[in-house]
Amino acid sequence: LGGSISRAIQQMSNATIIDEKVLNDCLNEITRALLQSDVQFKLVRDMQTNIKKIVNLDDLAAGHNKRRIIQQAIFNELCKILDPGKPSFTPKKGKTSVVMFVGLQGSGKTTTCTKYAYYHQKKGWKPALVCADTFRAGAFDQLKQNATKAKIPFYGSYMESDPVKIAVEGVERFKKENCDLIIVDTSGRHKQEAALFEEMRQVSEATKPDLVIFVMDSSIGQAAFDQAQAFKQSVAVGAVIVTKMDGHAKGGGALSAVAATKSPVIFIGTGEHMDEFEVFDVKPFVSRLLGMGDWSGFMDKIHEVVPMDQQPELLQKLSEGNFTLRIMYEQFQNILKMGPIGQVFSMLPGFSAELMPKGREKESQAKIKRYMTMMDSMTNEELDSSNPKLMNESRIMRIARGSGRQVKEVTEMLEEYKRLAKIWSKMKGLKIPKKGEMSAL
Ligand code: GDP
Ligand code: MG
Repeated sequence: LGGSISRAIQQMSNATIIDEKVLNDCLNEITRALLQSDVQFKLVRDMQTNIKKIVNLDDLAAGHNKRRIIQQAIFNELCKILDPGKPSFTPKKGKTSVVMFVGLQGSGKTTTCTKYAYYHQKKGWKPALVCADTFRAGAFDQLKQNATKAKIPFYGSYMESDPVKIAVEGVERFKKENCDLIIVDTSGRHKQEAALFEEMRQVSEATKPDLVIFVMDSSIGQAAFDQAQAFKQSVAVGAVIVTKMDGHAKGGGALSAVAATKSPVIFIGTGEHMDEFEVFDVKPFVSRLLGMGDWSGFMDKIHEVVPMDQQPELLQKLSEGNFTLRIMYEQFQNILKMGPIGQVFSMLPGFSAELMPKGREKESQAKIKRYMTMMDSMTNEELDSSNPKLMNESRIMRIARGSGRQVKEVTEMLEEYKRLAKIWSKMKGLKIPKKGEMSAL
């Protein structure tokens, strides 16, 4: 996709006269590319109309940077589609919430339920899983296995065939046990759709979920809109999770799901494992959709704000891909100073969405400072190692003692380190374009 869009824009910038025909040709080319990426036809058509309104031909003709103007317009339009205008219900730690998962069979509900529970558990929540899929043989075993691996309490039955009864029993039990995130997994048979929707409605009515999450496989293509709409019409879908983003699918269906449910995407699944789960961030997603790569905005920013003489060192570190605790410490220092490099790092997808969510800057800074205090109690060996096994229990205890922090907090900091190291490792071997070589799309 990226290729054909950049070609389309390239052709346009080569044309000497930018008239309406050239712009139309360019937009048609982009339309084709977005459709190949499973963005719904109607959405693409609306976007095309909007762009024509936004992009002023006179501006283009007057020698402004045409590629930039068009690129920016497309980027903004796609971001707008992904933003339904209101955030989804967000469960609060320590307060009971019931979250119900719905979606077709095979979309990844059971896997995603566990990922969602595990994600919150790592942040100190008390999640629990309820298996209300009594349709598929083995459904309970699968959930039980996942839950056991993650040490998350679960509820289900091999004998009971009424999903509503199990759902209610499970939710009741975990409410009594003061769990703050009670997750209900439902069945999603392929055929008998009417029966599935009826069952979902009953489970929802009986358990009164605070949030219904629609789980969608990113590879379903153009079917995404109708599917999402059908679910929305039966239950009050409030958020979307798109799975299997590690596969070939570009994920254009996410736009359809948002448009059809008027709910935001909150996470994406990027693999079969428990921790292959990411907070959804609109801009990097759109970059990827447009083939700009997750890092192009990041690279632009490096060239824009990092002084020339500091660039080579930084880029060298990035392309080596080894993220030690010392590098994390240095980047934290940069971020706190909010110098040029700090600005760059606060833009990295994983840094910004998780470590420093918007509107919570004070809290984030305090957290970073706390992490740094703990790292001050580390030895050079620990700071420079890229072997995750080095940090054993006795080292963790020593660091906790030395910094006057709890073992739990040190573990949390190390988890954060692992998460950032994973993001960082994606930069490994990255060919870093020199200033001016960045292609527009
Ligand atoms: P359910 O029928 O909706 O409950 O779907 P499951 O959770 O059983 O998942 C169906 C299959 O998709 C399983 O083989 C999962 O391992 C796989 N799966 C789920 N999420 C992801 C993902 O994000 N990436 C990949 N590669 N596989 C996934
Ligand atoms: Mg399942």
